[in-house]
Amino acid sequence: MIEVIYQKGLYLPELDLWFDPRSPKPRAFISHAHADHVARHSSTICSEVTARLLRDRFRISAERVEPQPFHSSFTDKNFRITLLPAGHIAGSAMIHITRLSDQASLLYTGDFKNRPSRTAEPIAFAQADTLIMETTFGLPRHRFPETSEVENEILTFVRESFAQNKTPVLLGYSLGKSQEALALMHEHDIPTLLHPAAASMTRSCIAAGTPQLPEPLEFDGHAPEGHVIIAPPHVMRSKKLLGLKAKRTAMLSGWALQPGAKFRYGVDEVIPFSDHADHPGLMHCVESVRPKRVITIHGYTREFAAELRALGIEAWSANGNDQLEFHFNRKS
Ligand SMILES: [Zn+2]
Repeated sequence: MIEVIYQKGLYLPELDLWFDPRSPKPRAFISHAHADHVARHSSTICSEVTARLLRDRFRISAERVEPQPFHSSFTDKNFRITLLPAGHIAGSAMIHITRLSDQASLLYTGDFKNRPSRTAEPIAFAQADTLIMETTFGLPRHRFPETSEVENEILTFVRESFAQNKTPVLLGYSLGKSQEALALMHEHDIPTLLHPAAASMTRSCIAAGTPQLPEPLEFDGHAPEGHVIIAPPHVMRSKKLLGLKAKRTAMLSGWALQPGAKFRYGVDEVIPFSDHADHPGLMHCVESVRPKRVITIHGYTREFAAELRALGIEAWSANGNDQLEFHFNRKS
């Protein structure tokens, strides 16, 4: 098996490569351009779309980035490396690694979503001996409704708001959720204004070739009748949004199904519109990759690993023992 070390981040010593480390490293794979996966490394492997977003969003210069097209392999040391779409947001990638001497293989998913989306490339799994996967929604009760049902909930919220002469405000991260919500509104010919942060990310996605997105219109504090506003959750208490007299807010989040979510977010509605896999999606990942061992990161790592072990699959949480340093199969 390929050796994996957990040391405040996942590291492959044979390749001298880190996966989504939070602090700058000599060489790292960045799975996607969400802030909690990004740092300024000396050298970064990522997808072509992510390279563009890293440049526009984090001003990471092109010399530090090695963009790779999806599905086409390259060789490094004694390893074949392939990036595969992760379906999470535009440009999100999984990295598949094969050691050429003995064909030992590894797949690191980063954040992923199995369900089709409008703006993320469709996910493509590949078989691997070692699967390192995210388990954000790792409990069996984390099961999202059908996509069509969730989208209908959003459209109903929007139409009901219009009927009450109120401006519907959809709250979601400026990269990912905002573009998905915008593409949905565009498909239904509903005029939409974007918070400047979401508008700027949308322009970068369009420049990187993301489909189904119209030129964004920016929200400047005024909402003409019949318009939806898309904004990141943290600006909910900003002057611009507070200045809107008649509005209804909806948080778009996979955590919408948690009891008390509406109260916690302080919104009128919560809708389970997620860019992650739910529990059945995580299981589908394991079934598709057919790994010999699984390492879980993010969210319900211990619970999901325990569930896999009960099914007869070797599985461990990367930081489950609360050890600062952890070696997986050091000798093999
Ligand atoms: Zn993410």
